[in-house]
Formats: sequence, structure tokens, C-alpha cells
Amino acid sequence: MTGEVGRRLSSLSRSVEGHVVLVTGAGSGIGRATAHLFADEGARVAVTDLDAASADDVAAEVTATGGDARAWALDVTDAAAVQEVVTEVAAWGGVLDVLVNNAGAAAGHPIDHDDFEETWDLGIDLLLTSLTRTIRAALPHLRQAAAGRIVNISSTEGVGGSANMAAYTAAKHGVIGLTRSLAVELGESGITVNAVCPGPIHTGITSAIPEEMKVKFARRAVPVRRYGEPEEIAHGILHLALPASSYITGHALLVDGGMTIKNN
Ligand code: NAD
Repeated sequence: MTGEVGRRLSSLSRSVEGHVVLVTGAGSGIGRATAHLFADEGARVAVTDLDAASADDVAAEVTATGGDARAWALDVTDAAAVQEVVTEVAAWGGVLDVLVNNAGAAAGHPIDHDDFEETWDLGIDLLLTSLTRTIRAALPHLRQAAAGRIVNISSTEGVGGSANMAAYTAAKHGVIGLTRSLAVELGESGITVNAVCPGPIHTGITSAIPEEMKVKFARRAVPVRRYGEPEEIAHGILHLALPASSYITGHALLVDGGMTIKNN
């Protein structure tokens, strides 16, 4: 016991320094904040987005503040492009440690709307099927990493439901199911698979909602009494991506200011 005196009990790393992180939809909102946070923590960040210009901008912002980032244009609904970009990112980084499946957009129509089926197919493809594409492409590289991590962005719509957005809600529930199944499947590999469920956050997706409606909604529905900021979600993502989070897998982390647990 005396030999132990002065030694730290904790041996697990809370650092992602040098880790290679691929973020989808990183040109805006939660993805952008995630790219910045990981870069601030010393990670090398592949900033990917459907919108090439916004990916370029975010990579330039990160680089201007001393971080290590590179931009790729990537539409996650394009299977061939996903394979190509993931391969390029792994070649750039030498490895791939963390995949953050974040890209998304609002998707929904009332069930009896003429365009329901079209919106359903697009929504499920973008918000659920695309995650299987990036994961399948990244897996051989994640298996080579010392602490491979997959973080999938679901939503409070993944645990509850709202009207007129069946595709979005079903897809976000599906993200949690996918996360749990893969956590079991990949458990032995040391790769953890977790989900983050943001509540209402100030980002591109919610930008069309008038500010007074946001304030009113948050006062009524959110114990913390406000919309969240993208950076508050990024910290949840970072936590699940740490080497020290090695025994957390299959979890769906609510980052919602308490919205989901509020009864009155
Ligand atoms: P955002 O609009 O600010 O960012 C979404 C990004 O995804 C954009 O840069 C967009 O260009 C990109 N994108 C859209 N389609 C793409 C595609 N096919 N391929 C690649 N990139 C694509 O919105 P956000 O809120 O930061 O969204 C990030 C994630 O958070 C989404 O999955 C969203 O469903 C989820 N989310 C957001 C909230 C919220 O209140 N903002 C709540 C719960 C969950």
C-alpha cells in the first residue's frame, strides 16, 4: 500500500488530443460547435457538410484559432461519396478514432398530406439510413483505433413525439434503436456506440421559429427555462467520445434542459 502513496488512482484518459474525429453536418449548429470543441481539445477534425462552403468556413475558423481541421463536401445520402470521404479522412489522419453522425434537417408532413410518402422516404434516408452508411464505411478504421467511438445525434423526438413530423420522429427513435443494436454487436471490439438527444437548441434547424415563440415554449416546457446552445450539446458528445468513457455504450444521453422529465 505504501508504494501506492502519491500515485493517482485514475488511469483513464479524459483527453482526445491527437484523435481524428469525423463530424457530419459540421458546417452549422451542433456540428460546427462539435468541430470547434474537439479542435480546442487538441483533436484533428474532419469537417464535413453537404454545403461545401460552410464546411470550408468552419475548417478555416478552427485553423484560425490554432486548431487542426480540414473540410470535405459530403452528402451523407450519397453512399459512394461517404465511402470516398471516409477513406480520405482516414488517410489524412492516419486513423479514425471518432465518428459523430450529426447531419440532419427537419422532415415532416401531416400523415394525410399529399407529399407524405416523399418526405417520409427522404427523412428516413437522411436521418437514419445515412448513419448506417457512415458507420459501415468508418468501421474498418475505427477497429484500428485504440478507443473507437461512435456518437449518433438523435433528439428528444427519439424518446417522445410531436405532431406533423412522423418521419423525423420515427427516424430519431430509429437512431436510438440502431445505437443500442450496434453497441451490443460491437461491444467486444472496444468501440462504443452512443446517442445524444438534444432538446430545443439555437441552430439552423430552429432558426425559422420566431424568438418570442422560443421564449414562450422554453418557459412552459423546459425546466432550465431557455433554449440550449450548440456548445452544450457538443460537450455531451465530447464526453461520450473520451477514452475514459470506455464502459458507457448503448446509452441515449438527454441534453435537453430537463424537458423530457418534466411532468408539470
Ligand atoms: P443545422 O441546420 O444548424 O445543421 C445541420 C447541418 O447538417 C447543416 O450544416 C446542413 O447543411 C447539414 N446537412 C443537411 N443535410 C445534409 C446531408 N444530406 N449531408 C450532409 N450534411 C447535411 O441544425 P442542427 O440543429 O445543428 O442539426 C444537427 C443535428 O441535431 C441534426 O441531426 C438534428 O436533427 C439534431 N437535433 C437538433 C435539435 C435542435 O433543436 N436544433 C434538436 C434535436 C436534434
